[in-house]
Amino acid sequence: MKIIADRRTCDGLGMCEAMAHEFFQVGEDGLVEVLDESPPEEHRELVNAAVDACPVAALRLQG
Ligand code: SF4
Repeated sequence: MKIIADRRTCDGLGMCEAMAHEFFQVGEDGLVEVLDESPPEEHRELVNAAVDACPVAALRLQG
């Protein structure tokens, strides 16, 4: 699985970081940074929940 983040859409609201700080962080520029773009499969549920939590749909999972 691969995390795709659309930084043009991100509003820096930080829901993804709050849900899964191991994988997402709002950077100094106020936009999401993906800390691990290819998380281990065992984290799928957590990553999926964080992706779904984004209020502006800036995140998606591939694979
Ligand atoms: S939840 Fe969405 S808008 Fe908020 S920081 Fe994450 S990607 Fe950006």
